[in-house]
Amino acid sequence: MDKTIIEPQRSIRVKCETDVLVVGGGPAGIMAACAAARKGVKVMLIENRGYLGGNMTIGLPILGFLGRKGNQIIKGLPQKFIDRLEARGAACAHKPCRLHVSLTIIDPEAVKSEALDMLREAGVDILMYVFCAGAIKDGDALKGVIIESKEGREAILAKTVIDCTGDGDVAFLSGVECRKGDSDGGMQPPTLMFSMKGVDVPALRDAIVNHSDEFDMDTMPPEQFREGKFITVGFRKQILRARAAGYSIPVARTILITGIADDEIWVNMTRVNGTDSTSPDSYTRGEMLAIEQIPEIRRYLQDYIPGFRNAWIDRVAPFMGIRESRVIVGKYVLTADDILSCRHFDDAIGVASYPVDIHHSVGDDCTMHWCEDCYDLPYRMLVPEKVGNLLVAGRCASMTHEAMASARVMSTCMAMGEAAGRAAGIAILDGVPVSEVDVKKLQRELVDTGAYLRP
Ligand SMILES: Cc1cc2nc3c(=O)[nH]c(=O)nc-3n(C[C@H](O)[C@H](O)[C@H](O)COP(=O)(O)OP(=O)(O)OC[C@H]3O[C@@H](n4cnc5c(N)ncnc54)[C@H](O)[C@@H]3O)c2cc1C
Repeated sequence: MDKTIIEPQRSIRVKCETDVLVVGGGPAGIMAACAAARKGVKVMLIENRGYLGGNMTIGLPILGFLGRKGNQIIKGLPQKFIDRLEARGAACAHKPCRLHVSLTIIDPEAVKSEALDMLREAGVDILMYVFCAGAIKDGDALKGVIIESKEGREAILAKTVIDCTGDGDVAFLSGVECRKGDSDGGMQPPTLMFSMKGVDVPALRDAIVNHSDEFDMDTMPPEQFREGKFITVGFRKQILRARAAGYSIPVARTILITGIADDEIWVNMTRVNGTDSTSPDSYTRGEMLAIEQIPEIRRYLQDYIPGFRNAWIDRVAPFMGIRESRVIVGKYVLTADDILSCRHFDDAIGVASYPVDIHHSVGDDCTMHWCEDCYDLPYRMLVPEKVGNLLVAGRCASMTHEAMASARVMSTCMAMGEAAGRAAGIAILDGVPVSEVDVKKLQRELVDTGAYLRP
């Protein structure tokens, strides 16, 4: 048995009280806080890092603003955020993509300040450098959270809490049933992103467009690369050749993302199978292994991929991005069947279309399955089965391993966040628990404020 000690009981300061407390300032959390504040209730957002944005700050494009049929399916607050970024040259227009449905390139640095601006304008009280470390409950109802910081342990009391931590920390600490991974517990592996500058992007584009026999892409036609921003997923032959020549490459596909700057490429190619972000030992080991992979991947790109010969590493993302960890078991568990059958739900609060995109927990590859059009996100996937006064939005909402491989993309997480924030506001103003919010009213308000729901 592990050695233990008894922590002495102590009273802790109540730092503040609020109507809605959003825990985690990633894509879901930013939207949740903003949407709740727009209802006129008192909102606080807490974040353990010294900046907001979550995975929007690690060099990823936002996928899935458009649906498979080319129509825009994520609008509302997420689109307002993109408009603000675009106005300062920090986002590009949504571009359809055969593999990813759509991509929207954003500047990870600009995300941090734009999120702060948008939240401050909405009147959200922001507190960074605090880690949510405990739940305060009265019976089955959540009454707030315990935070840890340089000031020690303190309490924040709230009428409603929205868990946007990605890992479902609040839900887990509150006793909500959570699961991880596939039937064997295997989770999609994480990736430490890095960027290269000095890339001859026209040469890369030319290789794909004009020499596609040699430089081929998964699913995507070469014409897709003729103009605008792009993501490569392919160059499998080049990886096989490099491996035969002794290079150690952890992935089967070369995933490169054009940045905002013309000579900038973000590289999505490190991979550490078996990492669990809810275990600091595992996350630390994974992060260290990913750091070690970067020089070899850079060498591979310089030696095998057109345009990289004179490029250099410009930035390494501030943390290794987590594709999958805990999800809650909520009042409804979204499944792959719901996605692939383009299912409608009476309690739809958002629409998504991104494929079931599973980076396998073992090996080096990935499988993708697309629906024909798009599917609904039901409100019940945000509502935990037992604990009251809590909503869960983003990649830790209630979904199977396969379903979260689709709904995890950032546009979808933003839509869930917006709906959760608005629902929390309605619950407070109507004096009902979030589990009993009038969903028709929520849907009307979402549509009236610009969000997209299917007719
Ligand atoms: C390598 C990789 C590639 C991906 N590629 C894409 C892509 O190309 N396009 C796309 O759209 N999506 C992509 N995804 C998926 C997407 O990035 C995530 O699923 C999405 O960002 C999840 O959003 P979220 O708001 O739920 O969580 P996050 O973005 O993880 O945000 C959670 C926030 O909560 C904070 N937090 C966590 N725990 C606590 C705590 N206890 N107390 C206080 N704060 C806390 C974190 O610091 C963070 O800011 C990728 C993911 C990875 C890892």
